Amino acid sequence: IMREEELEIAIKVVIVGNGGVGKSSMIQRYCKGIYTRDYKKTIGVDFLERMIDIDGEDVRVMLWDTAGQEEFDAITKAYYRGAQACVLTFSTTDRCSFEAVKDWKKKVENECGEIPTVLVQNKIDLMDQAMVTFEESEALAKSLGVRLFRTSVKEDLNVAGVFRYLATNCHEMI
Ligand code: GDP
Repeated sequence: IMREEELEIAIKVVIVGNGGVGKSSMIQRYCKGIYTRDYKKTIGVDFLERMIDIDGEDVRVMLWDTAGQEEFDAITKAYYRGAQACVLTFSTTDRCSFEAVKDWKKKVENECGEIPTVLVQNKIDLMDQAMVTFEESEALAKSLGVRLFRTSVKEDLNVAGVFRYLATNCHEMI
C-alpha cells in the first residue's frame, strides 16, 4: 500500500486463476464498464485502474492481468511483485479451474506472502451448466479462510463488491 504525497492510496491487485475463467473480462468490466465475448488480449502484462472512495479517501485500485500467459514463470514474477491483494478466480462451468484454486493460492503466497485475498466463483449466469455446486465453493472458501464472492462479469453481478471489499481490507491495514 503506497501513500503518495499523503494524498493518495494505491493498491495493486492480482487476479489469478486458470485461463478462460474471466480474469481479463473482469478487469475490463470493472475498469471500463464493458463486456465483450471475444476481447483481444495484448501480450505481456497489462493493467487497468479505477479510483474508488473508501471512507472518504480516494483509493486507486490497480488491476493486473496476465493476458493468457498464466503458465510462464518469468512473466508471473513481475506480475506478482508488490501485489497487496489477490483475487482467486474459477469458473462455474470449469471443474479444472475450481480444482486449481489451491495451487494458485500457494503460488501467490510464495511470491507475495499473506495478503488480503478473496475467492471468486465467476459465470454464475451459467448455473444451468454448472460443474461446481454452491456448497463446494463455500467449503473451499472456508478451507482457504477467505470470503467467497459469486459473480457474473457478463451480467455485472457483484464485480464491484469484490474490489471494494479488498480495498477496504487494505485500507484498514494502513
Ligand atoms: P481469462 O482467460 O481468465 O482472462 O478469461 P476471459 O476474460 O478471456 O474470458 C473467457 C471467456 O469467458 C470469454 O469469452 C468471456 O467473454 C467469457 N466470460 C467471462 N466472464 C463471464 C461471465 O460472467 N459469464 C459468461 N457467460 N461468460 C463470461
